Amino acid sequence: MKTVNGACPHDCPDTCAWQVDVDNKGTAISLRGHPEHPFTKGSLCTKLKRYINRVYHKDRILHPQKRVGLKGEGEFERISWEDALEIITSKLKGTIRDHGPLSAMPCNFAGTIGMLQRYAGDQFFERLGATDVDRSICGKVALDGIRYTIGAGDTVLPEDLKHSRYIIIWGSNTAVTNLHLWSGAIKEARHKGAKIVVIDPLKTPTAERSDWHLQIKPGTDAALALGMMHIIVRDGLQDEKYVKDHTVGFERLRDRIRKYTPELVSSLTGIGKEEIEKFSREYALTKPAVIRVLVGMERRLNGGLTLRTIACLPALVGAFKSLGGGICQFTINTMREALDYKAVIPQESQTPGKRIIHLAQLGRVLTDKNLSPPINWLMIYNLNPVVTLPNQNLILTGLKRDDLFTVVHEQFMTESAKYADILLPASTQLEHWDLMPSWGHTYVALNKPAIAPLGEAVANTELFRMLAKGMDFKEPYLLASDEERIRRLLDSKSPLVSGITLETLKTTGWAKLKTPTDWRPRAEGNFSTPSGKCEFFSKTLENLGLDPLPTFEITPSQNMEEYPLDFISPKATHFLNSEYVNLPNNVTIEHSPSLVMNTMDAQDRDILENDKVRIFNQYGEVVVKAKLSQNCLLGTVSMAFNWWMASSLNGSSANALTPDALSDLKFGSNAFDAKVQVMKV
Ligand code: SF4
Repeated sequence: MKTVNGACPHDCPDTCAWQVDVDNKGTAISLRGHPEHPFTKGSLCTKLKRYINRVYHKDRILHPQKRVGLKGEGEFERISWEDALEIITSKLKGTIRDHGPLSAMPCNFAGTIGMLQRYAGDQFFERLGATDVDRSICGKVALDGIRYTIGAGDTVLPEDLKHSRYIIIWGSNTAVTNLHLWSGAIKEARHKGAKIVVIDPLKTPTAERSDWHLQIKPGTDAALALGMMHIIVRDGLQDEKYVKDHTVGFERLRDRIRKYTPELVSSLTGIGKEEIEKFSREYALTKPAVIRVLVGMERRLNGGLTLRTIACLPALVGAFKSLGGGICQFTINTMREALDYKAVIPQESQTPGKRIIHLAQLGRVLTDKNLSPPINWLMIYNLNPVVTLPNQNLILTGLKRDDLFTVVHEQFMTESAKYADILLPASTQLEHWDLMPSWGHTYVALNKPAIAPLGEAVANTELFRMLAKGMDFKEPYLLASDEERIRRLLDSKSPLVSGITLETLKTTGWAKLKTPTDWRPRAEGNFSTPSGKCEFFSKTLENLGLDPLPTFEITPSQNMEEYPLDFISPKATHFLNSEYVNLPNNVTIEHSPSLVMNTMDAQDRDILENDKVRIFNQYGEVVVKAKLSQNCLLGTVSMAFNWWMASSLNGSSANALTPDALSDLKFGSNAFDAKVQVMKV
């Protein structure tokens, strides 16, 4: 028996460190949270309690396979790795010869979010000169929106929420999707008297457990922020000295917010004007106050500038002066400072004629008849695009193309894998190395392989080493071993990783970055914006042709009468994106998605609890059962996006209804702008 340290591979802010017990036959027999990890404190979420079952599940793909049925049918026959690599590389060489390297494209994201497995193919595709992908579906719109106001840098560490006395959770179901923050720092703050306010169109479990839920109309968050600023300035509650010393554009901001009276903001957001008044005053007067934002607001046409607008609030009230005060989003900037990302991702591309497409528009790219050259060779790994990306039906149309050669590297036969020409077996986190940063705290963890890869499964890193050899690429960085890559990542010379090496991590399993105890990087200004101040007025935005001031804009739907309901597709509790959906258990016993709708919206349509309903718009339709609840705002319906297509009653899932435009920052996704109609079947 041995115990091996590792960490959860999922795209979740908690990045739990774990320990795996392996018996003397090399079989993993138990998995638990690392008991000494200060942030996750030895607990894993219920999803991960099933991880070992997932690893040994009978449905794992364990051998290379070649498609023998039609695309999408899922009929394959086993082939050797040698044959698979020969087919893949000869197709790639042929595509490059006939159409150039831009006709090849990766399609990947954060299925395994560690530094090695997530970025495994980036240097290979850069070397190839392939079409590059902007993968900003999650996080980057919010990150960049906030950056226009206060610059880059993590201004409040999630751990420091324990010092906060007023915690606004804005657009995040924290109790479910950021479990250890909720049960750790937030619980501690609450114990010391902090008030928790949740702003969300849905009465999520987090909203239910908070002190106050402000149920806001979808997409109107910036209006609420402008209304808060109106009340704060009207009542003279701004921090005059902080505003004078550390911000630019206050006078113009004052003009901008004048019209956002509580009456107007109430009509825009659906929140009562007395509540808006009380909330704004409490926020300005309670210190330290923090706004916790995650990705809920960014998947909209107004997503970037909404986050930019909200980010003005902490400077206005001087929140950055206090430990635990300000705006708390990711810890990505800190991780980027700590690790040498150049070890795994290419630097700014020098490739002439580089083409970048947006992952959120995969369907458009694969079906665009004017794209020159078209994408003829596609490699899907670390992603289940058919379920997780917007405009599902257009993606399916693209994947069905006869002239598209598709490779999929996967652990299970997902609905995307069914479109592969060649299907390759991928290892799980128990079978490969990785270095796990976190986007939700300041710890890194080493994931050591606990067991040998099952069958003929290989890690993403090993796959790309094999492909590099198959393409006769000789660059050492393409062939570097996993341990060499981890050493380079940690050899950044940053004081944040001082004393943290592969060898120390092999012993401890995880390590805290060496962040200062008193993390208040904006207490004295020092914003990393062009002016060095918090920019209420942004010249950069003006130069980009965008509104330079905090702003609220919502694009009215063209088809309001046909599709009057806002459709929100958040995460489901027991899945991690589309993972675990194919492994039903007693927690998800019913195992089918449902549409949550307001009782009055249901009554208007003669819909009763558990009735079969058809949700539809110009992109597609989904048939599921209805669940009636006051938790959904009138005019808003909700269905989790994670469910696989086969889980619904008509073989389509939530993303069959989502649009595939980009945000106001010209990247990201507007999937949450979906409008639908619902009818009883
Ligand atoms: S999914 Fe998140 S909460 Fe669950 S074990 Fe993984 S990192 Fe922890």
